[in-house]
Formats: sequence, C-alpha cells, structure tokens
Amino acid sequence: MHQTDVTALIDFDSLLSEEERLIQRTVREFVTERVRPHVSAWFEEGVSPRELAVEMGALGLLGMHLQGYGCAGTTAVAYGLACLELEAGDSGLRSFVSVQGSLAMYSIHAYGSEEQKQQWLPRLASGQAIGCFGLTEPDFGSNPAGMRTRAERHGDDWVLNGSKMWITNGSLADVATVWARTEDGIRGFLVPRGTKGFTSTDVHQKLSLRASTTSALSFDDVRLPASAMLPHARGLSGPLGCLDEARFGIVFGAMGAARDCLETTLEYAATRVQFDRPIAGFQLTQAKLADMSVELYKGLLLALHLGRLKDAGSIVPEQISVGKLNNVREAITIARTCRTILGGSGITLEYPVLRHANNLESVLTYEGTSEVHQLAVGRALTGMSAYQ
Ligand code: FAD
Repeated sequence: MHQTDVTALIDFDSLLSEEERLIQRTVREFVTERVRPHVSAWFEEGVSPRELAVEMGALGLLGMHLQGYGCAGTTAVAYGLACLELEAGDSGLRSFVSVQGSLAMYSIHAYGSEEQKQQWLPRLASGQAIGCFGLTEPDFGSNPAGMRTRAERHGDDWVLNGSKMWITNGSLADVATVWARTEDGIRGFLVPRGTKGFTSTDVHQKLSLRASTTSALSFDDVRLPASAMLPHARGLSGPLGCLDEARFGIVFGAMGAARDCLETTLEYAATRVQFDRPIAGFQLTQAKLADMSVELYKGLLLALHLGRLKDAGSIVPEQISVGKLNNVREAITIARTCRTILGGSGITLEYPVLRHANNLESVLTYEGTSEVHQLAVGRALTGMSAYQ
C-alpha cells in the first residue's frame, strides 16, 4: 500500500474534473484490491488472469471510450487515467485492456457492419468475450505493409492463409481481428475461435509481460463468409487507426508504471539505512529522485495535453508518436534508475520495479518501436520520410 502520492507536488489532480478523479480513484482501488496482492505470482508463473476480464467489464473498463453497444462512453482523458492506474499495477493488465478496447473493439466499432457490432461489442464490453488483433507477422513487424497473410475470394466466401506473431490475448480470444492482403488491398476480417484451420500457440520463455498472453496465430485455408470482412476498413489506414487508439492509452499507461516505481522507491529510500542514515538523505539519491519526478511530471502533463486534444477531436497521429516515444522511454529509464536505488532488493519480485522495467521493454517495442516513432516525428518536422 503506497503512502506517497508523488504527483501531489505539482497538484496534478487540480487539472482533472471531478468525474475524471472519480474514475481514476475507482480504477486505483480495483488495482489495489484485485491486482497488487497477486501480480508478482502471476508474473512469476506466467499467468494472465482471464477472470479479471468480467470484473473489468463490470467496471466499464473495456472499450470504455467507445459509444453505445454496452460501452461506457467516457472521455479520452478518463480512459487514459484508467490505463495509467492499470499499468501502475502491471503493463500486462493495461495491455489486456488496450487490446480488448482499443484494438479488437475499436476495429469493430470503427469499421464493422451493424451486424458485427451487435454480435460482438456488448459481449466484448462485458468481458464475456475476449478479442485480439492480428497485424504483426513473423517477417513483418515495423513494416506491416509487407504482410503475407492473404485472403482470396472463393465464390461468396473468403479463404484465409498465413500467420501472425506476437499477438496479445491470441489464445484467449473468442474473436480475432485479422488483417490480410486481398486483391482489393489490405482488409480486416473477424475470425471466431474454433473456425476450422485457425490455431494459436503461446509464446513461452518471455522475460517481459509475463502476466499477459502472447501468441502466434496460424490460418490454414480458413473459410470465412463474406460477412466476416470489416466493410469500412480499406488499406493500412484501417489497422493504423486502431493502433493510434491503443498508443494513446500507452502514453498515460507508461506513466503509471513509472509512478509506481517512483513511489515504491521513495518509501524504500526513506527506511533503508546505510552509513547510519536513510539512503533518501544522500544527495546522489535525491538527484535521481528529483530528476525522475520531473520526467514523470512532464510525461503526465504531456499525456493530459494529448488527452484534451483527443477529446477536442483535433489530435493527429504524430502527436501521439511524441507522447509514446517520450513517455515509454522515460518510464523505462525511471524504472531502471529506481532499481539502482533499491540495490539488491531491486532484482526480486518482492518489489514491482524490475517487473515494470522488464514489462516496459515490450511496451517500448509494440505499437511502433521508439525508432519508428522517431521516424514519424522526424517526418512531421522535416517533411521527409526516412522509413525506407
Ligand atoms: P522489427 O520490425 O524487426 O524491428 C527490429 C528493430 O529494427 C527495432 O529496433 C526497430 O525499431 C528497428 N527498425 C525497423 N525498421 C526500421 C527503420 N525503418 N528505421 C530504423 N529502425 C528500424 N502485434 C500485433 O499485431 N498485435 C498484438 O497484439 C501485439 N502484441 C505484442 C505483444 C508483445 C509482448 C510484443 C513484444 C509485441 C506485440 N506485437 C503485437 C508486435 C509488435 O507490434 C512488434 O513486435 C513491433 O511492431 C516490432 O516489430 P518486430 O518485433 O518485428 O521488430
């Protein structure tokens, strides 16, 4: 249980509405009661807690910023704050919520037919069904445009062949949004679990996001009806639109992991005595704590600014790239610096710090690596694309 509210120094709460504070507090309590007592065991044992889906659905956390179909319809800022509190618990938990709400549900909400929305969104919002989002392939990560997964017309049906890699919730999912090349460009398909020829295999030996399921998906002559295609997504802009939604959650979420590291470290440093005084009293420790808190505050303010832009309907992808690039990079630096202050104690699961640092390695890579976001920001600044 944390005593310290490190964000109080800049009175971050004063920038939030009463409703936003209430939502944040509710998610924080959920994480304190339902996640913190178990999360180190989940991480150690490599378990993703499927049962929490229904609880998070009941709290309105799944697809929470979407309108209708059983979704809570909150502001983007409220959604961001929920991601922040979830990731203060564990990045795996926030990943679950991001994939469910911002990738799987958003793809259906934004690009699906009315029938697809009615069929899937209420069940996904309640956590009774789980979704995943298959874009990355073994040979195409940063460059999804090269994907090989292919869907071909056979009469009225589609036949899907190919594979996807690193798919969060892959083997848990009741429905997968799968992006495939067609004669008409890249299109999205909803593939229900149990469809003949669709199999999944979990990735093992992970050192990061261990409390989250990551899978490879395989499609071997998977026959789908015409109604499985998402009618309103054409080309790579479809999946990229979903990724912008999920990245937005990461901008806030990463700051949650950083805050948890810093608060843990402040408490530890106040009581850990070396050379006859608490290590918090050494100037070198205080320099680290001060610098880390400044980066946390900057990241929080940036996240909030982007959230307000998103709620105003004016955010552009390059702005989300600025947030993802900065906040994940700073969060992982904070986590690693906190680990140094915890000394040897910092390397175990007794403290959350190295768990967060290891998780953030995945967050640094997925939803566009830091380098890809540097290229996006660089292109926005110079007008020149350096991707290829
Ligand atoms: P690569 O693309 O091979 O990149 C390797 C390195 O090369 C990186 O440092 C990269 O920045 C650099 N690089 C690549 N291109 C350039 C360039 N033009 N200029 C400079 N540097 C470059 N994907 C999904 O579709 N759905 C999911 O649910 C999902 N969940 C994930 C969960 C986890 C735990 C992980 C680790 C990944 C997940 N991913 C998911 C995949 C993720 O999005 C990819 O790993 C990511 O896009 C990077 O692709 P890659 O791993 O193939 O790396």
